[in-house]
Amino acid sequence: MPALIVAQKIKNFLQPALPQMIDTLGRFVIAESPSLEKAYADRCCGIIATEWSKHGLQVHRVPQKNRGDHLRIVSPSNSSRPSGQLLVLGHYDTVYASGTLKKMPFRLTAGKVYGPGTFDMKAGIVQALFAHRALQKLKLASNKRIVFLWTSDEEIGSDSSRKLIETEARRSDAVFVLEPSFGPRGMIKTARKGVGEAEIIVHGRAAHAGLAPQEGINAVHELCRQVFSILKWNNPHRGTTVNADIIQGGTRTNVIADHARAVLDLRATSISEMRRIERQFLALKPHLRGARLEIHGGFSRSPLERKMSAALFKRAKALAAQMNLFLEECAVGGGSDGNFTAALGIPTLDGLGAVGDGAHSAHEHILTAAMPIRAALLAALLATS
Ligand SMILES: [Zn+2]
Repeated sequence: MPALIVAQKIKNFLQPALPQMIDTLGRFVIAESPSLEKAYADRCCGIIATEWSKHGLQVHRVPQKNRGDHLRIVSPSNSSRPSGQLLVLGHYDTVYASGTLKKMPFRLTAGKVYGPGTFDMKAGIVQALFAHRALQKLKLASNKRIVFLWTSDEEIGSDSSRKLIETEARRSDAVFVLEPSFGPRGMIKTARKGVGEAEIIVHGRAAHAGLAPQEGINAVHELCRQVFSILKWNNPHRGTTVNADIIQGGTRTNVIADHARAVLDLRATSISEMRRIERQFLALKPHLRGARLEIHGGFSRSPLERKMSAALFKRAKALAAQMNLFLEECAVGGGSDGNFTAALGIPTLDGLGAVGDGAHSAHEHILTAAMPIRAALLAALLATS
């Protein structure tokens, strides 16, 4: 079937399923899943697993000691010799502590569904579920195996899931990330900055500020000079930002500060800029004689460069056009697990999830009308990959 007809056909199939999609989303949202509360996260994981296993899929629960379990769901290819693998990626953890539902209940009003984690990104998991259902029912499954990975710790840096994500990505020809889209028109995220955090600790020497200032090494003065020169590394034109977000030092007045620290937020649009910042950190030297610098951290997610998503976006745009949807793209400053997969050289398209607003805030919501369309877009991408 020509690729362009597929999207329209899937959309027609999915449109009447909207009430079921909202019901499923309700079940996922009512099961609160804070990244840091394993018992809650596991309960939500079980509910998501149940929904997916209803479709005759192999659902593997990947047990975790401190975080919620991850889910790996395999949809076998329709051929006995699969021609490859596609990875659909997302997370079910949210930034909201348990009990948030009391202040922020799951509710549907005027075409919007509100609630913690609706937009980021439980609606994305629902859309993927219905996308898969459409592929099965319409017999559009591709020759590739599809692996769906729903992880539990994206909001806190993906420490427990990163290996699993990278292992599946390496086996895949493409990765589709169900993170929220951007803005009211649902732009796809074709580029994401690389992100990191670095800490600079300055060791100086305490002394009486009045009686023996010459014996002291002022760690606060040293840190100020360091921060001042680090700020010159910023290059907003190239998308590189370095920000001192936390600064601390000293003990009390009349005592020359013997220690100080700063924590810096690092962002870079390109891998070359990320490397530049890393090199500059390594080259830091103290200004004051006798001061010592200690540096920790660095970039934890490499940039998702646009070239890693360009071809997939082009196809997504063509498929969307069949549904009378003018699909737009954008670059964002925040990272996601898509940064990991793109850094491995695997084509990655991010922001394929829900259309809505207010991620991580009290008015988090999605636009219900977009759910079947976005699900159809994902299904069409999978069918034509
Ligand atoms: Zn997210």
